Amino acid sequence: MKIAFIGLGHMGSGMAANLVRAGHEVRAYDLSETALSQAMADGAIGAASLSEACEGVDAVVTMLPAGQHVLSVYGEVFGVAPKSAILIDCSTIDVESARQVAGQAEAAGYQMIDAPVSGGMAGAKAGTLTFMCGGTKTAFSGAEPILAKMGKAVIHAGEAGAGQAAKICNNMLLAITMIGTCEAFALAEKLGLKDQVFFDIASKASGQNWSMTSYCPVPGPVPASPANNDYQPGFAAALMLKDLSLAMQAAAQSDADTPLGAKAHALYEALCSQGHAAQDFSYMMERIRRGA
Ligand code: NAD
Repeated sequence: MKIAFIGLGHMGSGMAANLVRAGHEVRAYDLSETALSQAMADGAIGAASLSEACEGVDAVVTMLPAGQHVLSVYGEVFGVAPKSAILIDCSTIDVESARQVAGQAEAAGYQMIDAPVSGGMAGAKAGTLTFMCGGTKTAFSGAEPILAKMGKAVIHAGEAGAGQAAKICNNMLLAITMIGTCEAFALAEKLGLKDQVFFDIASKASGQNWSMTSYCPVPGPVPASPANNDYQPGFAAALMLKDLSLAMQAAAQSDADTPLGAKAHALYEALCSQGHAAQDFSYMMERIRRGA
């Protein structure tokens, strides 16, 4: 298969390399020379323009920063990619923009799917991402075999935008459980409990959750968690703030009551503005310990 891959940053680079490894001809395009050179070193064919990348392809995959980039890139893709090409946007963007671009794709005669991911840079590199997909059954069937080369799970969530909806709801829940876990450890410490002792109890009691058992925000109990590596990401606090902002935007548009989501958004906004945007989102532990 010939696949155009647009946006070869932290996530896209690993994903494109997995498509090359799976035997596809990958045409890479990025505004950044450095990103493009890395993709070429990983076996992709560098394209000088978006239209060159999309010429004669069977699929277009995008991994871009935000809604405005996705709308602008697909504005160019429509017309240059063959109508038979399946369009797959893996970026995390707002639900409204995802629905808008899907509507434009349909009007232009394309099958398109929103397929944001969970799993971070490590998952992108290892090919173990989880894809949450929104679009028609036909679009999902076209995208699924390609996504399977980059992930361990590819799930159809519903119509256009449903993938983005699943992603932001999941990450809002992740932020809330992470903050709750940090609060529980901070209080346990103040009450004289050792972190490991509290972990051994709570991980086998009703407080058990993924933020604790797979991504523990204190060093020690889960050796691979970023807390053991000076809170290097992992998943940066800035990206969690981005996803929480998308969740708050969607909550306002759909009239959903999300009081804990709003509090989580405010806490991550404060953490980022205090100079910790580039640290892992579990650095919230230090913010809670400090109390400000
Ligand atoms: P990144 O900034 O590293 O990469 C984005 C790339 O897109 C850059 O190389 C940039 O030059 C390129 N780009 C921007 N506009 C372009 C255009 N018009 N044409 C061509 N290239 C263009 O970002 P990332 O960390 O790889 O994240 C990409 C997406 O994945 C985001 O939506 C992010 O929210 C989501 N995501 C990231 C992570 C993570 O851990 N980094 C995890 C899950 C989801």
